[in-house]
Amino acid sequence: MTNSTTDYTLKLSGLEPLVIYHGSNFINVGERTNVTGSRMFLRLIKENRYDEALEVARQQVEGGAQIIDVNMDEGMLDGAEAMTKFLNLIASEPDIARVPVMIDSSKWEILEAGLKCVQGKCVVNSISMKGGEEEFIRQARLVKRYGAAVIVMAFDEEGQADNYQRRIEICERAYRLLVDVVKFPPSDIIFDPNIFPVATGIEEHRLNALDYFNATKWIKQNLPGAKISGGVSNVSFSFRGNDVVREAMHSAFLYHGIKHGMDMGIVNPAQLSIYDEIPKDLLKLVEDVLLNRTDDATEKLLEFAETVKGKGKEAVRENQEWRNGTVEERLSHALIKGIIEFIDEDTEEARQNYARPLHVIEGPLMAGMSIVGDLFGQGKMFLPQVVKSARVMKKAVALLTPYMEEEKRLSGDKSKNAGKILMATVKGDVHDIGKNIVGVVLACNNFEIIDLGVMVPAEKILAAALEHDVDVIGLSGLITPSLDEMVHVAREMQRLNFKIPLLIGGATTSRIHTAVKIDTEYMGSVVHVLDASKSVPVSSALLSKEQKEAAHLSHKNEYEQMREAHRNRKETKSYVDLAQARANKQPINWLDTKITKPSFLGTKTFTDFPLEKLVEYIDWTPFFQTWELRGKYPEIFNDEYVGHEAKKLHNDALQMIDKVITEKSLQASAIVGFYPANSVGVDDVELYTDESRKEVLKTFHFLRQQNQKSAGIPNNCLADYVAPKETGIADYMGAFAVTTGKSIEKLVKQFEDDHDDYNSILIKAVADRFAEAFAEYMHQYVRKELWGYVADESLDNVALIREKYQGIRPAPGYPACPDHTEKGLLWDLMDIENQTGIQLTESFAMYPAAAVSGFYFSHPDSKYFGLGKINKDQVEDYARRKNMDIAIVERWLGPNLSYGL
Ligand code: SAH
Repeated sequence: MTNSTTDYTLKLSGLEPLVIYHGSNFINVGERTNVTGSRMFLRLIKENRYDEALEVARQQVEGGAQIIDVNMDEGMLDGAEAMTKFLNLIASEPDIARVPVMIDSSKWEILEAGLKCVQGKCVVNSISMKGGEEEFIRQARLVKRYGAAVIVMAFDEEGQADNYQRRIEICERAYRLLVDVVKFPPSDIIFDPNIFPVATGIEEHRLNALDYFNATKWIKQNLPGAKISGGVSNVSFSFRGNDVVREAMHSAFLYHGIKHGMDMGIVNPAQLSIYDEIPKDLLKLVEDVLLNRTDDATEKLLEFAETVKGKGKEAVRENQEWRNGTVEERLSHALIKGIIEFIDEDTEEARQNYARPLHVIEGPLMAGMSIVGDLFGQGKMFLPQVVKSARVMKKAVALLTPYMEEEKRLSGDKSKNAGKILMATVKGDVHDIGKNIVGVVLACNNFEIIDLGVMVPAEKILAAALEHDVDVIGLSGLITPSLDEMVHVAREMQRLNFKIPLLIGGATTSRIHTAVKIDTEYMGSVVHVLDASKSVPVSSALLSKEQKEAAHLSHKNEYEQMREAHRNRKETKSYVDLAQARANKQPINWLDTKITKPSFLGTKTFTDFPLEKLVEYIDWTPFFQTWELRGKYPEIFNDEYVGHEAKKLHNDALQMIDKVITEKSLQASAIVGFYPANSVGVDDVELYTDESRKEVLKTFHFLRQQNQKSAGIPNNCLADYVAPKETGIADYMGAFAVTTGKSIEKLVKQFEDDHDDYNSILIKAVADRFAEAFAEYMHQYVRKELWGYVADESLDNVALIREKYQGIRPAPGYPACPDHTEKGLLWDLMDIENQTGIQLTESFAMYPAAAVSGFYFSHPDSKYFGLGKINKDQVEDYARRKNMDIAIVERWLGPNLSYGL
């Protein structure tokens, strides 16, 4: 029915319509509301600072974006929830909601969550045939039903289209399926024929831009109604850090793209220069590359790029010219570059030149560190570099210390510093990577750090604070029970009449918890410090004579306002009572469920498991997060800001891994167990001594979501994944614990004795990665062999990290089962401490910290979820089932209670 009167106009809308027709202007899609593309936006979302995140959207629209792309794909975020929340917030901001939204995700659940709440007519970004035709058609049908337009990536079962022919073949095939099978309106189809980098030095990449342009033209001529889009910044990837060249490339790319038929593009308007204003020599070089006009185009553009590059390259290391400078210059250079090789000789030389050893510290060393501090503060240096600089400083100070002590002994003199900070991981908690990083960064800024280590009881913290006469106490904790412990420390500080500031940090802590639960307990300053870079300005202000009072009042004031807002917040969620939630459990047809009996019942222990088998199972992305380098592995290496440092850090980690493997300096052990099991009383799971299922060995208790769900969505509970006893079906459940942290103390101590915080933090981060990799490895071994319910699974590491397999391994203390105390039962069940050496602290943290434990569920419908908040009725029921006091249950589940205490 395609005749000349066919209307191929793409009509989108926010509160206002946006009409894209043949001959209309190019449409800018704002790219900054994207957690994968903008670190700032990611941080705002992670910290729940949605007000400020909305500002980003507003700025995009004010800056000329006619559509805004919203992406919440980040491992540690609940993407669907963040998408829903953000889109709902946009909806009530008329000056943002004016423009249509592009819901951007690689996960269908997130796309659908967005589709469910967006108003007007939006664009889904994107679907493709990578999962096969059937899935593609299914998703397209849903998009159509939601009434949205769709971006289709040129991607099929074999991968992304990377030449002209594949681009047009895939787009044509997708178009035919959409138009003929799904009856998708052709005008609502937008192809993204893949914008890839050019001038990479790789021969095949020379055609990347040209193939995109030509494919665009072909699509516009041959697939009636279809529109074309693309992510433009990709094309200039190999020139990251060189804005002059990048901006010229983007503008020239768009100029040609639009000529070939591009309708819209995801861009950063701030990174666009005006085509006509690009200097002619640069424009020629850029166009030679984009259009592949000459054989030496890449080389020429690279040559030019060198001449306009802001900074010199990393040629420093090979180049030893800096050794010719004065001793002050050499010290400063070594500090800024983190070069440790010559620090002893240079420090010694300086010591001999200066009247007193202290002057070396207060003079050239502190001058160098202050540059490091400034660069870090300005975001021009990254955490791994700072930690390496600190290592240089520590070595120099270590060399000078004996001389200073001698001097002090003679004169009774005291060196001055910016202030003394006591740091500790609270009682029951064992995690200290974050704390150590903060300590190093503070030390770089001339604070004296007294680090009491991990599992430190309140009395010990406060006694040490008095003994050392410290100026600040910093507490750290990673698991939820530590929150309570921090409240306890704050109370004790108040009772004992402390006045000094209390800093709060660590993974489970939050600004709101600090405001509501900790700040109220202590009259001194209480400040939540989220990352290492923040710790310095916060501490400096709190200790500076001039700013102290104002800083104190401003923190108190801020938290009071947060409490106020917290009290007045409208509870947006409504909850159902426990009986209703149970009635809405995940429906499972047990009669049709194939149940596999594990290859053995009881436990199997693995000791000294070879670490080399685990390397390929490592998920590197969280490793970079630990070091505050944002980005997904391996794409992070191409990031224009952190790419270079990420690569260096990764190399250091790989070297460390090699050494650990060769020297067998860490040992891995694990235990897995399988048991006959059935769910009982809806939310508990009984494990039986044997197949007769008469004698209960252990009962595990699970919690059920109680928030009001939309029709068809269950109130989840892990117990639902095990066949209920009354079905009479013989089902099973498994459990595991793994560690790769045995003997880590020895390594850490060696590094610390050598004043090498960089490697001491690195080894802990590496051990953590090994532990997660071990959990991943074991889980696969369990699925394929030990339990054997999917003997023929074959997935690569990317698929494993994305949890593409059947079954889950939820860990007590994590969102689906946040009660840490169930670990006590687990330890009992499998005698885990004796079998693996992993101990539990009084807060049920695992020690060594490089450990993972959890349950295995095999049911195909089992999935990870977050419990969310629960009502008092469930807390009472749970306390009864566990035979625990309600008040104690409430303490363990504090963050999950829907009601205030
Ligand atoms: N690949 C990541 C895994 C992080 S999650 C990494 O290497 O760091 C770590 C573990 O937490 C998972 O292996 C799983 O055991 C558990 N987990 C994840 N999500 C969960 C949830 N919603 N509820 C319970 N446990 C969960």
